[in-house]
Amino acid sequence: MLSPWYSLMTNVAVVAFFVSVWTQARDVFERFGPRTVQVCFGLVMGLGAITAMLFPVEFSPGVIFDLRVALVALAAFFGGPLAGLVAGVLAGTYRVWIGGIGTGSGLFAISLIVLTGAVANVALTRNQLPFARWHSVALALATCTIVLLAFSFLPHDVRVREEPIVTIGRTLLLFVAVLLSGLALTRVEERRSTRLENRLFRQVVDALPDSVSVRDLDGRFVTANSATARLLGVSSSDDLIGRRRDEFVTETTAPGSHPVTKGDTVQLQQVLKHPDGTETWLQTRVTPLNDDYGHAIGTITHEHDITARRRLETDLDERQRVLSFAMAQMSDGVAMFDRNGRLLYCNAQYQQLFPRTSDLRIPGTHIRTILAGAVARREQQVGASASEVAKWIDDIVASLRRDNEEEVHLFNGTWLRVSTRPSPDGVCMVVVSDITRLKRTEIELLNVTEQLRQEATTDPLTGLMNRRALDQRLDIEIARSLRTDAPLTAILLDIDHFKAYNDTYGHLAGDECLRVVSSCLIQVFQRPADLVARYGGEEFLTVLPDTDADAAYQLAVEYRGTLKGMAMPHTASPLGHVTVSVGIAGYAPGETERSAEELVGRADEALYEAKTSGRDRVSGWRRRFPVIPRTLRIVN
Ligand code: GH3
Ligand code: MG
Ligand code: MG
Repeated sequence: MLSPWYSLMTNVAVVAFFVSVWTQARDVFERFGPRTVQVCFGLVMGLGAITAMLFPVEFSPGVIFDLRVALVALAAFFGGPLAGLVAGVLAGTYRVWIGGIGTGSGLFAISLIVLTGAVANVALTRNQLPFARWHSVALALATCTIVLLAFSFLPHDVRVREEPIVTIGRTLLLFVAVLLSGLALTRVEERRSTRLENRLFRQVVDALPDSVSVRDLDGRFVTANSATARLLGVSSSDDLIGRRRDEFVTETTAPGSHPVTKGDTVQLQQVLKHPDGTETWLQTRVTPLNDDYGHAIGTITHEHDITARRRLETDLDERQRVLSFAMAQMSDGVAMFDRNGRLLYCNAQYQQLFPRTSDLRIPGTHIRTILAGAVARREQQVGASASEVAKWIDDIVASLRRDNEEEVHLFNGTWLRVSTRPSPDGVCMVVVSDITRLKRTEIELLNVTEQLRQEATTDPLTGLMNRRALDQRLDIEIARSLRTDAPLTAILLDIDHFKAYNDTYGHLAGDECLRVVSSCLIQVFQRPADLVARYGGEEFLTVLPDTDADAAYQLAVEYRGTLKGMAMPHTASPLGHVTVSVGIAGYAPGETERSAEELVGRADEALYEAKTSGRDRVSGWRRRFPVIPRTLRIVN
């Protein structure tokens, strides 16, 4: 009979052999999917268990022992329920086929081990936990416990045949077999998951649009992703391994770029010149790569292609330069405000046009700050009260959202035209033009026009309204009096013997006389509605709205008294002093036929009568077959 130690070593060898077979074969089955792997694992471990049973150890008569449960436990724990089941069924079937007194406890041990291993496996898989070394310790302990439990189910006389020292010894052996095999399989799983992680990581890095590479201390590529291969113009990143970048391109630091160090990472912009003459601009980030002991072994380089962005920036710079130049050449001030009212851009002219707030008119300042500054520094005359100032600012802020044109008068007399034009995206363009000269010319023109208007309607000698102006006003008064059916009276007066006055005292004295006569008119006819005009030569016409003939008569009398009070001598006149003859004509309410010509004509007729009756008197107009108005009398 062979020594039990011989069978024991055979059992150990069987376990080691089948575990080793599996570690080598596992990758072969990997490609067929996880279920195939589980089934195959179960088959290998099951066959191992059967093989172990072929070399049982008999320490004491009738009590046999083998390491089958070690393989079943490994299958269930590392392979999961399916692998455990396959191994368990194989081992169990064979155990039943052998038969004998320990069949029940043998099946019990196999079943409980499959169950325990599978449950532990499911628990780990569900929680996505990797296999750890202590798991093998736990598995070995659990297996030994179950085997001892199964052993206790054997009949008492069988159990007592085995020395306790043997029970301890074989249990320890089982523990060591499961532990070592478990550690080996754990290592296999670790390597597998590392390989998987590496592959995934490689795929991720390869899918990156940016170039990522690792180079040794001499700058030779250790690994690189596909983007790096594309960047350097080679078909595969494998073509880069062991080579330096300057074998493919010429690299220089981008003009104006300075390396910036953040922690142990250096960032800079680089330009790669390709053999075909094209250039690639890169944003480069270099991080040192150390080994597990902290020794530098190379660098990790991450590069982002910024050629397109760089081109856009250059284009934009160029456009901005041209635009700024154009703006600087303009005579107008130009400013742009963003949708929130913040100044985005302005040219120098814009600042110069507002001398007291030029320091505030810089990009970034809010329109409200600028306007508040303009008020505080009295650049513009706004309202006196705080509410007026607030409203003024609100109005201007609101005007940035619509097309607007405004004329602004500054403290220094400058006139500015401020035009606002908002764009659909909310940016508002403000153009400020100096219109001081234009404005002055406009004001001068207005003054001249007013002067001309005055001259056109005023008699220069007396300052009274002239005939032309009176004719226009008279038409209006006639129409008004017709509308309101109000009385309207005209008083025409003429200086007596004025030709003789001129002849006696001279023309200048005549002019002075005319001025005195007209000043007396202004004194007497004071109502704002009264029209007093020099009608020609030494004739004056007064039109009195809402005045009847009686009232007009009273005024004419008053006037003659006033003139008399001036006591102007007129030696050439038989009357001895300057006198006037007066003709009065008017329309009374109810008269619906009225015209300016008729009214003046009638006043003239009355004046004629005053003249022919001896001058220096007032005559009222009457009809050829007149009903003499009660109040109209001839006064000497
Ligand atoms: P009568 O009493 O009939 O009105 O006689 P008269 O001399 O006043 O009337 P006449 O029409 O013969 O003369 C008017 C004069 O008034 C003639 C003209 O030289 C004079 N005259 C008209 N306009 C002016 C003026 O602007 N200045 C001066 N100094 N004289 C004027
Ligand atoms: Mg006359
Ligand atoms: Mg006269």
